[in-house]
Amino acid sequence: MPMDKPLAGRHALITGGGRGIGLAIAQALHAQGATLTLLGRDAARAQAAALALAGLGIACDVSDEAAVNAAFAQARAVNGPITILVANAGIAESAPLHRSTLAHWNQHLAINLTGAYLCARAAVGDMQAAGWGRIINVASVAGLKGGAYISAYVASKHGMVGLTRALAIELARAGVTVNALCPGYTETDMALHAIETITRKTARSEEQARAELVKANPQGRLVTPQEVGNAAAWLCMPGSEAINGQAIAIAGGEI
Ligand code: NDP
Repeated sequence: MPMDKPLAGRHALITGGGRGIGLAIAQALHAQGATLTLLGRDAARAQAAALALAGLGIACDVSDEAAVNAAFAQARAVNGPITILVANAGIAESAPLHRSTLAHWNQHLAINLTGAYLCARAAVGDMQAAGWGRIINVASVAGLKGGAYISAYVASKHGMVGLTRALAIELARAGVTVNALCPGYTETDMALHAIETITRKTARSEEQARAELVKANPQGRLVTPQEVGNAAAWLCMPGSEAINGQAIAIAGGEI
């Protein structure tokens, strides 16, 4: 990797890096010279994505404390101190409150929120020791406003924004910035899953369901994963040091 790239020598660990937004962030950071470790539930997918970007792929469920600690130790042993963390792994299932289960609620908090906490805790020592670090939590516009039938998801994403704001202040003097990215509906498997759920649970066609998602964005389109990747790379580049504790909407003006 040529040393003239701005993120050369930086080790970025991205959870859920095997596909969708996480993969686009990995590609954007790789383009700026970062060394990558990608985590995912599906080992083959994480490893294949990492291989294409000259990185390391590790199977890890981010809601499992021991698995997170082991994965970060392995990543550190292979690629050195982790100074960029992108907590991107997430799930989004819908359920009206009265039909939702405690398991549904707990699973959203465990993966989306506790996962981000476990990963931040596992990486912060490296960042403090280096006197430089970037923590980027991929939240959602659902971290900034409510939405019907997605209370567990909204609560978990608001929690991520709260975690971001607290850590940003705690680490402000350590050379570490902590920010959240808040995409609107983005063209990934998760959006396809939302479209499929709408068509299954309502009488709408796939086209009508897609139009529902598009309608939320004043630009009349879905966000692209690359747009989220670009924002993540910007937060890691020289010159963005003063951006700290922010929840940045990437949503075409939705919020
Ligand atoms: P995808 O469903 O395409 O990808 C989800 C990723 O998260 C996969 O890489 C998956 O790994 C990983 N993941 C899920 N659960 C776990 C877990 N327990 N441990 C480790 N990894 C896990 O979704 P997106 O790319 O769209 O979403 C990425 C993030 O962006 C999520 O946090 C989501 O909430 C957020 N977001 C998405 C929006 C959208 O419209 N798409 C809008 C706003 C926010 P594997 O591949 O191994 O299954």
